[in-house]
Amino acid sequence: MTQTSVRENLLRIQERIARAAAHAGRRAEEITLIGVSKTHPANAIREAYEVGVRHFGENRVQEWEAKRAGTEGLAASWHLIGHLQSNKTTRAARLFHSIDSVDDIAVAQRLDRARAEAGITGKLRVLIEVRVAPEETKSGVEIGELPDLAEKIVDLRRLQLAGLMCIPPFLEEAGQVRGYFQRLRVLRDGLTKGFDMELPVLSMGMSHDFEVAIEEGATEVRVGTALFGTRSTA
Ligand SMILES: *Cc1c(COP(=O)(O)O)cnc(C)c1O
Repeated sequence: MTQTSVRENLLRIQERIARAAAHAGRRAEEITLIGVSKTHPANAIREAYEVGVRHFGENRVQEWEAKRAGTEGLAASWHLIGHLQSNKTTRAARLFHSIDSVDDIAVAQRLDRARAEAGITGKLRVLIEVRVAPEETKSGVEIGELPDLAEKIVDLRRLQLAGLMCIPPFLEEAGQVRGYFQRLRVLRDGLTKGFDMELPVLSMGMSHDFEVAIEEGATEVRVGTALFGTRSTA
């Protein structure tokens, strides 16, 4: 992909964000774009950085380790958005600014310990991934177990629980996912009130449905295809 097309793609995404925000009576600046760079080379990340993208999402620790050298010097935030295996927590705790897909207390505890062992001061931001569509998706914590997990993560001193994330089922008609996004927001509001937690972040919405997510309160949208083009592998 050439830089011109990444730039053009970004402009189109920014227009879509602005329109969806306006439609919902929100400001576009409330929404952070996370460029999902999985399967794309380090060069593509550099191109996106040069035209202004400052947050990137990768879904595999190993893939990101391989690409890191090619993105050295970029002052961006790196998010892990894919499932984290417990044997990769130590590396993940050093390599990412945010783990957006925590769904298990054992993984959270390992991340907390790894930060201490690495001597990294400053909390690692984490989001809890919620399984909003139990019948169709596998990753994420069950809704019934969310309050307990959130309370336990809040107690971990080196983690900063910032909010919730979800991946609804892929539905051709973007409007059909609205209910899942609403569900995530309601869950967040419930935790905020019930447990007096500050959970400002709702990471929801991908290339084909982020407008709906923004209308339902998304503060971060994870956009791959619309920014970098189609992926050759999953
Ligand atoms: C791949 C991926 C995205 C981006 O998907 P697109 O449809 O390409 O925008 C967003 N979130 C997660 C968790 C992903 O794995």
